[in-house]
Amino acid sequence: MRKKQHSTLMQVEFVCPKCGKKLAWALPTSEINCPACGTWVTDRNRRIENTLYLPLDSDQMVLFC
Ligand SMILES: [Zn+2]
Repeated sequence: MRKKQHSTLMQVEFVCPKCGKKLAWALPTSEINCPACGTWVTDRNRRIENTLYLPLDSDQMVLFC
């Protein structure tokens, strides 16, 4: 089976590591400022809960826990 590159966009859930507030789903390269405690949440310090893969060529969403 041939694997297509760049056909799947990965988004991760950004959860503040300090106060646990769920901020947003975004690309791992994003940085999100927590409005509750002011912490900058990146892919390096976020609390990992879920990873979501969004295929670009369909509406299907696959959730990995
Ligand atoms: Zn916070």
